[in-house]
Amino acid sequence: MKLLVVEDEVKLAEYLRRGLTEEGYVVDVAHNGVDGLHLAMEGDHHLLVLDGMLPGIDGLGLLAALRQSKQTPVLMLTARIRIEDRVKGLQGGADDYLVKPFAFSELVARIEVLLRRTRPTRDVEGTTVLGLADLELDLVRRRATRAGQRLDLTAKEFTLLTLLLRRQGEVLSRTEIAEQVWDMNFDSATNVIDVAVRRLRGKLDAPFERTLLHTARGMGYVLEARDE
Ligand code: CA
Repeated sequence: MKLLVVEDEVKLAEYLRRGLTEEGYVVDVAHNGVDGLHLAMEGDHHLLVLDGMLPGIDGLGLLAALRQSKQTPVLMLTARIRIEDRVKGLQGGADDYLVKPFAFSELVARIEVLLRRTRPTRDVEGTTVLGLADLELDLVRRRATRAGQRLDLTAKEFTLLTLLLRRQGEVLSRTEIAEQVWDMNFDSATNVIDVAVRRLRGKLDAPFERTLLHTARGMGYVLEARDE
């Protein structure tokens, strides 16, 4: 999942970038409204975290311009607590807002809710648990289990497994994995991906009888329950 943070307070922007990256998101950052709008229009972000008061174009202006062509979910950050300002934001097309200062955990929770609401997947409406054979992934609690046993995954491993599970049965190329999970291009990420897949296998498959994560030689990786 790829997020765009538009925030002119550099320290806060950096704090959000680091925190959200640790949560497993791929994060782009812009420090003013003009760059933010450009990135939002050009990019393929799943959600925007948008500060209200920005140099250049302010948050509402950016939102209005964005909404003419894109429906990317927007979570607005605002220092203003006046009700009419919140209403303006929501009328302007924001999907949710958070008043500064906020707790990081609340930001993450609201992002999760918005992504769940808008996620264009083949999941059954409202489903937040993905599964394959005895593997289960709880997207909200960010927990993975096999045969009821908890898998101790890092944030990146969780993101990688989520991607593989959403697209189960499909061979995913290293290029696609690099872009979706690391926001890197293939050349610089090949080794990173192979190492991450090996680590994931050690946790996902090694302790269990049935192998779920398979290598498609020369093509990439596929998660599926094969008859053995
Ligand atoms: Ca600001």
